[in-house]
Amino acid sequence: MTKKTSLTNKILIAMGLGLILGSLINIFAADQTIIQSYFVNGLFHVIGSAFINALKMLVVPLVTFSLICGVCGIGDISALGRIGLKSFLLYILTTGIAITLALGIAITLAPGKDFNQQQQHATAFVAKASPPITDVFINIIPGNPIAAFAQGNMLQIIFFVILFAIAMLMTGEIGRQLADTAEKLNEVMMQVVTLVMDFAPIGVFCLMAKTFSEQGFALIVPMIGYFSVVILCLFVHALGTFSVLLTFFAKLNPLVFFRKMRPAHIFAFSTASSNATIPVTLRALEKRIGVNNTTAAFTVPLGATINMDGTAIMQGVATVFIANVYQIDLGLTQYITIIGMSILASIGTAGVPGVGLIMLAMVFNQVGLPVEGIGLILGVDRLLDMLRTVVNITGDATVTCIVARGENTIDDSIFNDPEAGTVPELHLPHKTA
Ligand code: ASP
Repeated sequence: MTKKTSLTNKILIAMGLGLILGSLINIFAADQTIIQSYFVNGLFHVIGSAFINALKMLVVPLVTFSLICGVCGIGDISALGRIGLKSFLLYILTTGIAITLALGIAITLAPGKDFNQQQQHATAFVAKASPPITDVFINIIPGNPIAAFAQGNMLQIIFFVILFAIAMLMTGEIGRQLADTAEKLNEVMMQVVTLVMDFAPIGVFCLMAKTFSEQGFALIVPMIGYFSVVILCLFVHALGTFSVLLTFFAKLNPLVFFRKMRPAHIFAFSTASSNATIPVTLRALEKRIGVNNTTAAFTVPLGATINMDGTAIMQGVATVFIANVYQIDLGLTQYITIIGMSILASIGTAGVPGVGLIMLAMVFNQVGLPVEGIGLILGVDRLLDMLRTVVNITGDATVTCIVARGENTIDDSIFNDPEAGTVPELHLPHKTA
């Protein structure tokens, strides 16, 4: 085993150890005040949250510099439009496939048919008001770009940065100088990503230990029907749909692709946030898989916001499950509405933990299912959130590769090199005399 590959393995081991320790705490020390205060809500909470903040810290500057470089690198506005349109349509298509697949499998397996609601303690679920879909489109244009950057509003940032970079292209020499600077800044930011990834073993360990000490597997038992159907659909979509798309449209070996995406998968799983994972997804696609920045800089942040295949799958299964529990018959029109609503809802919501439930409330309102039913699945949602976030970012990366293949912006020699872009061990430069 080389020194280089050992970081991903270290993160994986840390993840496993965190999961085991967290589960042990959940089973044996749930009411031990010392362990709860000093470890779960102390050490694990502090280091885990600090690590998530360190990842989030990278998102806005990295997306900004990277997107400026991407747009200036394409250099041609019609090509930019083409990449935008292709990725948008592919994102809609993959989400459509995901929700249809989930509905198909869930209707066939019928989770929730024999569910005894009386024996369950549903957690109260109060749906947050969701913005009307018209607002989603209006709000793509930031009234105040500084506020957009400050709040990390991804669609607004993408809109403003693209406009700014197009203007840079139009201003000739001045714009070129700025683009050179952005390129240097982007390179440095990528290095910051590498630095943060070096701390991942400890960060991931604490995140997993904290989550699993709170989310015991006991919660899953009564919900096993729903839980396993969601997981089955996630696997079918990730290993089936994505593999087919990668093989035939991106002309890539899915096994190599999944291996190279492993660090991004681990980050997505432990943070449950596509947004916080953007830097790692971007890095994996550019440095490990060989997608040029001109494509990835645009498709990855866009995908983190508008593309959520895993979330759509959860919504499909949850809808069928709750309809079965409440013995409500859904008709074809309602199923079509569910498909449309899931796609639309994913466009307007950011990839952050738990947002899928808010989207689900939008779907339920639309088809007339009881929103309080969401309380039933709330207890197991965090674990499913972690898994579906992995599928969400895999969808972003798959579409990125398909678009890159079409644009001829993928370097197969990087893809075929197992060592390409592995994170080096931390070696801080020493000051020389
Ligand atoms: N946590 C998911 C993501 O960030 C969204 C969700 O399903 O709640 O992609």
